[in-house]
Amino acid sequence: MDTYGPDTAEYATLTTGYQTNRPHRPDVVAVPRTVDEVREALALDGPHAVQSSGHGRVAALDGGVLLSTTRLTGVTVDPRARTARIAAGSTWGDVVAATTPHSLAPVNGSSPGVGVVGYLRGGGFGILSRAFGTGADHLRAVEGVTPDGRAVRTDRMPTDATVVTAVEIGLVELPQVWGGALTVPVTDDLPARFAEATAGLPPEVTASLTLVPFPDSPDLPPHLRGTHLGQVRVVGTREITLPDLGGEGTLRWLPYAEAHTIHADPPTPHAYAGEARLLRTTAPALDGVVAATSPTAEVPSVIELRPLGGTLADGWILRAVTALDPVTEPRARAAHETLFAPFADVDEGPVRTFCYGRPTP
Ligand SMILES: Cc1cc2nc3c(=O)[nH]c(=O)nc-3n(C[C@H](O)[C@H](O)[C@H](O)COP(=O)(O)OP(=O)(O)OC[C@H]3O[C@@H](n4cnc5c(N)ncnc54)[C@H](O)[C@@H]3O)c2cc1C
Repeated sequence: MDTYGPDTAEYATLTTGYQTNRPHRPDVVAVPRTVDEVREALALDGPHAVQSSGHGRVAALDGGVLLSTTRLTGVTVDPRARTARIAAGSTWGDVVAATTPHSLAPVNGSSPGVGVVGYLRGGGFGILSRAFGTGADHLRAVEGVTPDGRAVRTDRMPTDATVVTAVEIGLVELPQVWGGALTVPVTDDLPARFAEATAGLPPEVTASLTLVPFPDSPDLPPHLRGTHLGQVRVVGTREITLPDLGGEGTLRWLPYAEAHTIHADPPTPHAYAGEARLLRTTAPALDGVVAATSPTAEVPSVIELRPLGGTLADGWILRAVTALDPVTEPRARAAHETLFAPFADVDEGPVRTFCYGRPTP
């Protein structure tokens, strides 16, 4: 089994991953390639933590063994059964690359770099979840190794310290999707207008509003510096006409393999803090969200508003992601608290998988 100590070149990459804030600091990183090597890694002395892509790290390990699943790779598709068997270190990009030649798709999220196991552990809100349910709804089997070295096979994600080694999921027949990202002018009432415009959305379509504040930085192209970008992102299995929000851009059919270009999540590792709440309904408080998170706000944040419904329970996810540096994590967390406070009456609780960098119950 490959192992790396703090004095190796691989250590920094493996302990960090996509989230660069508060990396793991283990005595050793163990990188198994087989289930037997997972067992070997678990037998090493010390506390253990597991990391795949590092998108969802919430607590950093200090000392002990970090088990990196990044070399447990491989995706096998059974086109007839419409299933895929996925080794635990795979990302959704790996899965989509394997399924799309068969005109099949997983119920994956916006980013091809996100790890399959971490996403499914969080339930998995897919780009088409209003049509097909959550990622976890399509889970067929989970294989893993318990801390004392026993091999287990079950039909749901373990909530204990079992290390998942592979999953089997169901796929949907979907050669292409209809959608795109429309650029819309940002006004204080845009979130409320978006909420109204998507109230009668058919279940075949999943849409979200994203507001991105760009700093007034010379590192950015001049047309983006200091701007507040509004985007309505639409992914569907059929064509629809959205009420006009004054946007530019077109919606079109595109191969499922290109669906990730609609959200176009940043591919480069960086430091961020996130908060997300499930809301029963949107409230007049939505009007305050734009100013509180704009490029000139004390703590600028990316905001996303997603209507649920369809095959999911009714409700909304409102989330904030703040790039850290120069903003410190405590300032970002305080700003998130202030942002979500006016929604207290309609707040059903945190959406764990989007509460980046913070442990949730
Ligand atoms: C840019 C971006 C886009 C995202 N888009 C979506 C989206 O569209 N929909 C959505 O639902 N979520 C989305 N997420 C959230 C994402 O699903 C979670 O952050 C998830 O935890 C990431 O999983 P990971 O394996 O990539 O990350 P990691 O940080 O490697 O793992 C996350 C957690 O899972 C545990 N884990 C990983 N592998 C194993 C294993 N083999 N056995 C046991 N435990 C394991 C880790 O210990 C850790 O606690 C997004 C996140 C980011 C940063």
